[in-house]
Amino acid sequence: DVTNTKGCEFEDFYLKRELLMGIYEKGFDKPSPIQEESIPIALTGRDVLARAKNGTGKTASFIIPILERVKTSKNHVQALVLVPTRELALQTSQVCKEIGKNLTGCQIMVSTGGTTLKDDIMRLYNPVHVIVATPGRILDLAEKGVAKLGNCEMFVLDEADKLLSVEFQPVIEKLIRMCSESRQIMLFSATFPVTVKSFKEKWLKRPYVINKMDELTLKGVTQYYAFVDEKQKLHCLNTVFSKLDVNQSIIFCNSVNRVELLAKKITEMGYSCFYIHAKMLQSHRNRVFHDFRNGACRNLVSSDLFTRGIDVQAVNVVINFDFPKSAETYLHRVGRSGRFGHLGVAVNLVTKDDRHNLFKIEKELGTQIKPIPPQIDKSLY
Ligand code: ADP
Ligand code: MG
Repeated sequence: DVTNTKGCEFEDFYLKRELLMGIYEKGFDKPSPIQEESIPIALTGRDVLARAKNGTGKTASFIIPILERVKTSKNHVQALVLVPTRELALQTSQVCKEIGKNLTGCQIMVSTGGTTLKDDIMRLYNPVHVIVATPGRILDLAEKGVAKLGNCEMFVLDEADKLLSVEFQPVIEKLIRMCSESRQIMLFSATFPVTVKSFKEKWLKRPYVINKMDELTLKGVTQYYAFVDEKQKLHCLNTVFSKLDVNQSIIFCNSVNRVELLAKKITEMGYSCFYIHAKMLQSHRNRVFHDFRNGACRNLVSSDLFTRGIDVQAVNVVINFDFPKSAETYLHRVGRSGRFGHLGVAVNLVTKDDRHNLFKIEKELGTQIKPIPPQIDKSLY
């Protein structure tokens, strides 16, 4: 499900040569199915609402059209990409910079909370063509008149459903109003609950709707559960670690406190481990994320801060030390493994109170979560 069947090539999109070079230098050979379908449409400037499963290449689906359409001869902000978390903003701006690295003069900026506002203001004294941001900070900059969005023609919401949740939606709408009237809006996500519908009807003009979810979600990720008592969880985790050949793993807890506690325990058990959660200083979060991605550590304990969009291809094991409450959270957590055709395994520690949720989520996602066997076949991940 990551290679297109029609033999479509990046050449078929008639992209600028420098852009095409960047795509190949990034190591992309052929467009994935979501890219094949969304790139030509997005290039025409039409509104897009695209749903595709985790790890299938949504980022490049909007980054490539943006980079193609940006006019570096004009020194104003032409594209705004919004994402729900700071880590995802960094990751996405990185992808944009890599793919666009041969486009001389194209200025890409990342702007998020948790950094010095003054630095962003200074940065905006110079030309910026593309901004990748979290909503709060960019709204602040726009309202101060520092970020001028009036000529911004491309507006992207990645993890759109998250950005359209009650906490973010008013900010998003304010930002859209500040952009050019003729702006193109693109929404990307793996999950589109009904809440997105009213937004779509209000803001999108004749959107082209793409749905690549017909195939099994979480394909490529073998999912297991183990029934445990709260007290047995650590022991169980230890057993899982000893059985699995972990390349890199992410272990999820349901609270900040539990993240820190568990990280301590895992270290005591003799496994190398980092942790990350929303209450940490941003600079610290960035360092952990950066180091984990570079393979400095095998295991990462995380809260749900880390669920959406984050792409670390080396992760082949996801463990729900605490079982999530919703199918959506489950999908985004477990989707951290099995990126772009890689295989992965997920292990869920399920207490008596979680059982009901386990079966509900399994059914809702139309996926299979099996009891953990004594041995796990290495070829599955
Ligand atoms: P999504 O946003 O759909 O979850 P990402 O955009 O994060 O997925 O991409 C997942 C991974 O696939 C990334 O590591 C990315 O570099 C890789 N990837 C994306 N498109 C291609 C492609 N056409 N060829 C090879 N790898 C790709
Ligand atoms: Mg993504």
